[in-house]
Amino acid sequence: MNKIEIPSDIAGPAPRHLTTQVMVGNVAVGGGAPIVVQSMTNTDTADIQGTIDQVAALSRAGSEMVRITVDRDEAAAAVPHIREALDKQGITTPLIGDFHYIGHKLLAEFPACAAALDKYRINPGNVGFKSKRDTQFADIIEIANKNNKAVRIGANWGSLDQELLTKLMDENALSANPKDVRAVTREAMVQSALLSAARAEELGMPKNKMILSAKVSAVQDLIAVYQTLASRSDYAIHLGLTEAGMGSKGIVASSAALGILLQQGIGDTIRISLTPEPGGDRTVEVQVAQELLQTMGFRTFVPLVAACPGCGRTTSTTFQELARSIQDFIRDSMPGWKTQYPGVENLNVAVMGCIVNGPGESKHANIGISLPGTGESPAAPVFVDGEKFRTLRGPSIAADFKALVIDYIDQRYGANAKAPEIVTAAE
Ligand code: SF4
Repeated sequence: MNKIEIPSDIAGPAPRHLTTQVMVGNVAVGGGAPIVVQSMTNTDTADIQGTIDQVAALSRAGSEMVRITVDRDEAAAAVPHIREALDKQGITTPLIGDFHYIGHKLLAEFPACAAALDKYRINPGNVGFKSKRDTQFADIIEIANKNNKAVRIGANWGSLDQELLTKLMDENALSANPKDVRAVTREAMVQSALLSAARAEELGMPKNKMILSAKVSAVQDLIAVYQTLASRSDYAIHLGLTEAGMGSKGIVASSAALGILLQQGIGDTIRISLTPEPGGDRTVEVQVAQELLQTMGFRTFVPLVAACPGCGRTTSTTFQELARSIQDFIRDSMPGWKTQYPGVENLNVAVMGCIVNGPGESKHANIGISLPGTGESPAAPVFVDGEKFRTLRGPSIAADFKALVIDYIDQRYGANAKAPEIVTAAE
């Protein structure tokens, strides 16, 4: 039997992989800056109002950079109008243009678009083919340099540079110890990003203008690709699992892959590529990215609500309803709270289902409630900063607890903040 070594203590995340810092608009990426959350719209960019509204929603949800598709003339023409309207709303979130196949042409023919964007995303697998590839790539780099813009060189498993892949496959076939096809494909992903970055540097683009990504849809491949990419360079790194999928599958796969890489110190900006439900809320991908970073302890964005899963001791729905209501209330309130209550994102709230773990977990939170489980007396003790504060009873427990949370936030983070007054067991 293999011996399993158990570490004597929990070491925590590895030190961040030191990368070159890139400014994207007013947002620092890499070089030790906080890991940046970004997202992408799914509106037709030519639909100016629709795109403004979605960028604004993503920004309000906490996206610190937003990527938009620039796929044709109408989209490129719309970009400066979108930027202008966002600025008028006070939304300064950097915009990234996503270009494929004709980016060189659109950027050249729509200089206002090139100027309005803060970063251009280039896919080295489809920037151009055969003899045109190098010149079209050079055209984009030249425009980026002229406009002092950053670029992301984003290789993607689904549109990998086929000439490079074929070359590596041929070399592998002649090798004394050939690798399997997946390993060669992973190597092609890494080389595609690094060779394009080297080419951009030859064309005069400094390292502090480039962010690299190499997105794959399988978790183990993604981890291997990014580990190799990070080990071979110090470019700022954009992390993302491409085609992650819908709902829980997409969230789990992205969190597993990105969580491991972040723990290893790899990644300067992340995007969670979730497929939304038809008509679903695009901002969910921002929420997942924030929750991933916050639950791992890298950043704080919103107060965390700890809730037990419930079990046979919680036969009423009161506990689930309160947990959901508190969580929604906090998230909906955050845009205003950010300015009204500085530091409120560090708040921890607990909503627990019964006496087994309820009082204990509630004491660990800033404010927590232990609801009565099946057969318990209909009383809900509330704990504030580890001490019993009050016991709530009756049909208005949920509303009363919400009011206590608001009071706590106001006292702790409001303009006249002071330590909250603890009233012991005011039954
Ligand atoms: S705290 Fe109580 S209700 Fe919640 S999971 Fe534990 S035993 Fe069940």
